Amino acid sequence: MAIKAVRGVHDILPSEAEKWRCVETTARRVFEAYGYEEIRLPIFERTEVFARGIGEATDIVQKEMYTFEDRSGESLTLRPEATASLLRAYIEHGLFVLPKPVKLYTIGPMFRYERPQAGRYRQFHQVNVEALGDDHPALDAQVIAMLIEFFRGLDIVQQLKLQINSLGDSNCRPVYRERLIGYFRTHMARLCEDCRERAERNPLRVLDCKKPECRPVLDGAPSVHDSLCGDCARHFLDVQNYLKAMSIPYEISPRLVRGLDYYVRTTFELTATDLGAQNAVAGGGRYDGLIELLGGPADAGIGFAIGIERVVLLLSGSDENAWGRKRPLALLIPLGDEALKQLLPVAQAVRSRAIPVELGDGDRKLRSELERANKLGVAWAVIVGETELARTEAVLRDMKSGEQQRTPLGELAQKLIALGGQR
Ligand code: AMP
Repeated sequence: MAIKAVRGVHDILPSEAEKWRCVETTARRVFEAYGYEEIRLPIFERTEVFARGIGEATDIVQKEMYTFEDRSGESLTLRPEATASLLRAYIEHGLFVLPKPVKLYTIGPMFRYERPQAGRYRQFHQVNVEALGDDHPALDAQVIAMLIEFFRGLDIVQQLKLQINSLGDSNCRPVYRERLIGYFRTHMARLCEDCRERAERNPLRVLDCKKPECRPVLDGAPSVHDSLCGDCARHFLDVQNYLKAMSIPYEISPRLVRGLDYYVRTTFELTATDLGAQNAVAGGGRYDGLIELLGGPADAGIGFAIGIERVVLLLSGSDENAWGRKRPLALLIPLGDEALKQLLPVAQAVRSRAIPVELGDGDRKLRSELERANKLGVAWAVIVGETELARTEAVLRDMKSGEQQRTPLGELAQKLIALGGQR
């Protein structure tokens, strides 16, 4: 029996790779224009990094981590998200001495033991962006604007809706948390099992439940906006005013809490109108206080993560032809080993100019090579048989019209490079 991939883990096949490259290139182009620099981080960390950096009470830490002991008995975890690792690196390498905000991004795989379904995997990929050391609301607005700009660059911004919220800070959020716990206690019987279990441990997360049975209780829950302290209310209003100044449309969603324990003040999420249940494409928020909690300076922080699989799904809805396989310019067909020796350096010269060509091995018959040329979809077949060798030339066959022309072997590489340049 052939071995299959692990459940919830997927291969990115060549037919999809162009979209992935486009997402990554667009991310780099847009974020670097805003002054963000790339940081590459390890795939696994000490378990503690995530237990402290995401929060013991979160679903991620409680149920979804791939945690294992290495051979020395140390507890390690495959990263379920990038923020905690990135902050660990920020502190470890003293990046906080750089001019603030320190602006970083990273791209790579994440691992969560979740129930796999369309758009939800156990190994998935994120583009992660963090701006550290600045708590000005204009930064929140610019971070959100940059996220929107990324989707504009991919031409799918029209499929998305931006929601924002404020969760308050260490001043007012605990007050809200207590109010929520009190409210849920009186409505416990009408909550689903998950929510009953979360109500005391992580009450804000209950607000995020999508089950219809919880709806009526959640609809009646106290709003976080009634609990915001003066500073937080002002901060949130400023964020909105700056978004308006940049003409960025948004909706306020008092129930947008997100998974991480340490989000404070601004949270935001982009959802796609037609992606089904797993419609969150990107999300993030502010986490002032988290860097200090991880043993670093009292620097503020804000960031977001984009789910690449879901972005690729949105791109798939667009013009498929734009993502077609790149066809080679030509198939070079040597008929025999001597002809192969002549065509090997030609292929090498053309490829060195980044023009893709395919080369036969000299053993196959002309007819089957021409069939292969058709399947590859090349514009030209270049044939060198005994006759051509004797005349030191090659036959160039236009695969569309069937017309043929001859070129001296010594000029063949230049001729193909010129044809490649015209494409
Ligand atoms: P989070 O790190 O949970 O805030 O998620 C940020 C983004 O990552 C989400 O909006 C999704 O687009 C994506 N994402 C999160 N979990 C998964 C998953 N299991 N499979 C695929 N994409 C995911």
